[in-house]
Amino acid sequence: MLAGFADRETTQTPEKYKSPMLQYHTVPVTAFQQNCSLVWCDQTMDAAVIDPGGDIEQIEWEVERLGLNLKAIWITHAHIDHAGGTSELAAKHALPIIGPHEGDQFWIDGLPQQGAMFGFPHSDPFVPTRWLHDGDTVTIGQETLNVRHCPGHTPGHVVFHSPQIDRAFVGDVLFAGSIGRTDFPQGNHQQLIDSIVQRLWPMGDQTIFIPGHGPESSFGRERKLNPYVSGT
Ligand SMILES: [Zn+2]
Ligand SMILES: [Zn+2]
Repeated sequence: MLAGFADRETTQTPEKYKSPMLQYHTVPVTAFQQNCSLVWCDQTMDAAVIDPGGDIEQIEWEVERLGLNLKAIWITHAHIDHAGGTSELAAKHALPIIGPHEGDQFWIDGLPQQGAMFGFPHSDPFVPTRWLHDGDTVTIGQETLNVRHCPGHTPGHVVFHSPQIDRAFVGDVLFAGSIGRTDFPQGNHQQLIDSIVQRLWPMGDQTIFIPGHGPESSFGRERKLNPYVSGT
């Protein structure tokens, strides 16, 4: 008998390596049903909220339900339905405000007037902790997303892209079957098309985007079927 042989430790199968993943959950807020997204790192559960346009209690409830540590506010652009809840949420939870690009300063200054015009609760202007620029990155927990500046709908509009999970949070740049309005002050149709073609399409046809309103779609699908950008 080979005494002791059976007592040898068997080699443990190594635990399958679990790489950190970006997770997200979208909550439509305000009368405009704006897609506010919570994004988080599943290793740390640290979260950022993209575009808290309003309905702060609903966002807080989702943060609680999902067990997230809310660490930051990320803003795509400063229209009231996207940015209206920013100053209140930031003050309440001592959160940094990341974005948008400085081109949207006049929209931030005009938040009280935007609110009055569209029947929103009062919203104070805010001072971003950090403005965003094309090529920047933002991090949450162990996750990093790329920032692209996509003017046209507003001059300071930015989008957030995670190549790891092939998702882009595009605000009002592109929708399933449509594109952002360009009839506001400093809106520019050609600039919007250029932003879509030069800064969204390179993310790849497989990329799923979360628009500011309505259902998700993929860039490949929009390039085929969206009448505003098909064939671009
Ligand atoms: Zn907008
Ligand atoms: Zn919007």
